[in-house]
Parts: sequence; C-alpha cells; structure tokens
Amino acid sequence: MIETEQRTPDLQAILDEVYAALEPRRGEGKVADYIPQLARINPQHFGMAIVTVDGAVYTAGDAELPFSIQSISKVFTLTLALGKHGETLWNRVGREPSGSAFNSIVQLEHEGGKPRNPFINAGAITVSDLICAGHSPREVIGEILRFLRYLADDDDISIDPAVARSEAATGFRNAALANFMRAFDKLSSPVDNVLGVYFHHCAIAMSCVQLAKAGLFLANGGKQALTGRTVVSRERARRINALMLTCGHYDGSGDFAYHVGLPGKSGVGGGIMAVAPGRAALAVWSPGLNQNGNSLLGSVALEMIAQRTGWSVFGP
Ligand code: GLN
Repeated sequence: MIETEQRTPDLQAILDEVYAALEPRRGEGKVADYIPQLARINPQHFGMAIVTVDGAVYTAGDAELPFSIQSISKVFTLTLALGKHGETLWNRVGREPSGSAFNSIVQLEHEGGKPRNPFINAGAITVSDLICAGHSPREVIGEILRFLRYLADDDDISIDPAVARSEAATGFRNAALANFMRAFDKLSSPVDNVLGVYFHHCAIAMSCVQLAKAGLFLANGGKQALTGRTVVSRERARRINALMLTCGHYDGSGDFAYHVGLPGKSGVGGGIMAVAPGRAALAVWSPGLNQNGNSLLGSVALEMIAQRTGWSVFGP
C-alpha cells in the first residue's frame, strides 16, 4: 500500500528556518518602479504567514505590516464577479495562461479584445467592468473592501490612497488596454469608472496575516475556516485555485507550479498568496521582483516551505 499519511509539520519551526536562511538575501530582485509610489518601498522587508484550516496562525518577519497587494486583489474581484455573473463570466474573459507579460497589449489585439485570463491586467479590467455594471465606482470599491474585511475578519483593511493616485497618474498602459477593449465594444461601463475601480482594488493594503486569512476559504472547500460560512461552492473554490495555478504568475506560472506546486497569485507589490488545499493559506512579502514581475524571495520562500511541509497539489 502506498503510504499517503503525512506527519503534521512543525509550521513555526519551518517558517523560522526559512526566514533565517533567506534573511541575508533580503533586497534581492528589483522593486516595481513603474508605479512611483511602489518604488518608495524599502526593499529589505520580508514577511511570511501561514493560517491553517483549523485557524492556527504562524508568522515570521514583517508578517503584520500592510503592503500594496496589487494583483493579488484580482483573486477576490474574480470571486465577486463569479458570484454576480456565474459561468457567463467566461464569455468575456478566457481561462488560458497567457505566456506573455501581465500588461501585454499585443495578445489583446490578436484575440479581438477578449483577454486570455482574469489575472492579466486586461482580464482584471474586464472583471472590474463586470462588477461595475449598474453601480457607481464608489459603491463597487466599497463592496470589494467590505468583502476583504469580511473574509479576513479584520475591519482595519483599507486602500492606500497615495498608491491609487500614483497608479491613476501613471497607468497609461492600463488606460490603453481599457480603451482598446472599449474600441472592441467589450466594456459596458465608462472606461474611467472601470479604471478607477481597478486602480483602487490594486491599491488595497494588507499584511501577510490578513491575506492568508482572506484566502483561507480557497484552501477550505469554499468555506470560511473559523465560522464555517460558505463563501463559494466547493467546485468554485477548486476552479479559482485551478486558475491561480495556471495563470497566477503570468509568464512565470509554469515555473511557479514546477517549483512550488501550489496555486498562487502574485502582485507587483512583492506579495504572493498561495493555497495548500485542505491544509492552509500562505502569504509572503518581499518587494524585490524577478524578471516576470513576481516576488523573487517570496517565490523561493514558498518553494522552501512547500518542500519542508510536503504540501503539493501534484501528489503526496
Ligand atoms: N496595479 C498593477 C498594474 O496594473 C498590477 C500589476 C501586478 O500586480 N502584476 O500594473
């Protein structure tokens, strides 16, 4: 008989060991500077958090310090949009890895204004448009924030207005993507409203602990771990995890799956949220990015944690 039973790993010892191993490498990678406010972040920050499905919280380093979650927010806006539109959402956005940069415009032209997946910028802008339908941008931004506060059970989560302004002032590529889709008649709300919502959800600030708590329903069959309340169906949680695995790290998604073996979503603020189904949600933060725009040290940290815990979606 194949032995699949795993001993319970000592998660605090693992985080401490990974932190000690990587602490000397803090500052590696390149901080995102195309959003001026993000360029001001101290590259030495490094934090990690694991929250298990039975509610235990383990941390190391800057795990309680809020940072700009950027594209990690796209997991939560997708969850909201699926709740509003169900599977018809997929008429507007695809489910395939893009194999190109997160802000690529070439592919969008080639494919007639239908973005490859909900996690590249064009896809997330489409998702923002889907949530906007019939609501003011202010209402929609409030709804996204309330959703995150509810999931993380933490009313302190907020939007960093300086980051939102900085993104709006320099978001020429995102404006190009949105206008391009509008030209293909693929957006229903005014471009400025959709971009306003997009920039604000990217500018939400959360700590590793808050992010891991917010993502825990994806590790727990769609239910909030502590209250047992259903956020999404079991099937939908699996599907969101599938999208994170295949598309969550842009043109670095294959590499992340190979090295870490867990669904994950990165953001250019240097955060990554990952899901070990049935076990835990994890979040790491280190602002320096690799060439694909994913946290360099964060990816290494998750690989080390996955190795040490034995957590993988690909086998025992
Ligand atoms: N707000 C960023 C942008 O639109 C999000 C990109 C990211 O985190 N990969 O460019």
